[in-house]
Amino acid sequence: MQKIMVAATGNAGKLKEFRAVLRDYTVLSEREAGFSGDVEETGSTFAENALIKARAVCRATGLAALADDSGLCVEALGGAPGVYSARYSGGGDAENRRLLLKNMQGVSNRRAAFVCAIALCFPDGCLITAEGKTEGSILTEERGENGFGYDSLFLSDDLNKSFGEASDEEKNAVSHRGRALRALEAKL
Ligand code: IMP
Repeated sequence: MQKIMVAATGNAGKLKEFRAVLRDYTVLSEREAGFSGDVEETGSTFAENALIKARAVCRATGLAALADDSGLCVEALGGAPGVYSARYSGGGDAENRRLLLKNMQGVSNRRAAFVCAIALCFPDGCLITAEGKTEGSILTEERGENGFGYDSLFLSDDLNKSFGEASDEEKNAVSHRGRALRALEAKL
């Protein structure tokens, strides 16, 4: 089995988590693999988008490519921001968190889940996929400075602290991405 793969992501937070969980593999960044393109996420589900990204980077680099499509699904917002989590406000992570807090103002049902779909494409056309989910609730203000994206607003049921307050190890042990990556590794 090939032990080198390229992470089809420009998100440094995701890359760090891929490497922390897949310790037996060499996970190259897109830049290290010589890929500098931008892959448009045209799918309507996490699984579709993960596949689109993994296929594009596998084709372009000739290496096994690992892609994650993930996001935050908030019950009271009908599952939003969902697949649009990265593009929620049209700005960066801080603007996304601000918009989420604004949209959740006065909302009593704060249940939410992070969802992650992973696809690993091989140059011979072989494909392995996996999914992971983690449950929690949306805080009324940010807590902690670790992680990325919505981490500081997500109170994890498993940890009883926000992902922004959790160490890398604590988050990876229970996170949607950690769970998806371990399920993928088991299939490899
Ligand atoms: P993607 O690159 O389209 O998969 O975007 C995923 C987006 O969902 C990220 O930019 C974050 O806003 C959010 N997200 C996904 N996973 C996490 C996580 O582990 N912590 C915080 N935010 C996350």
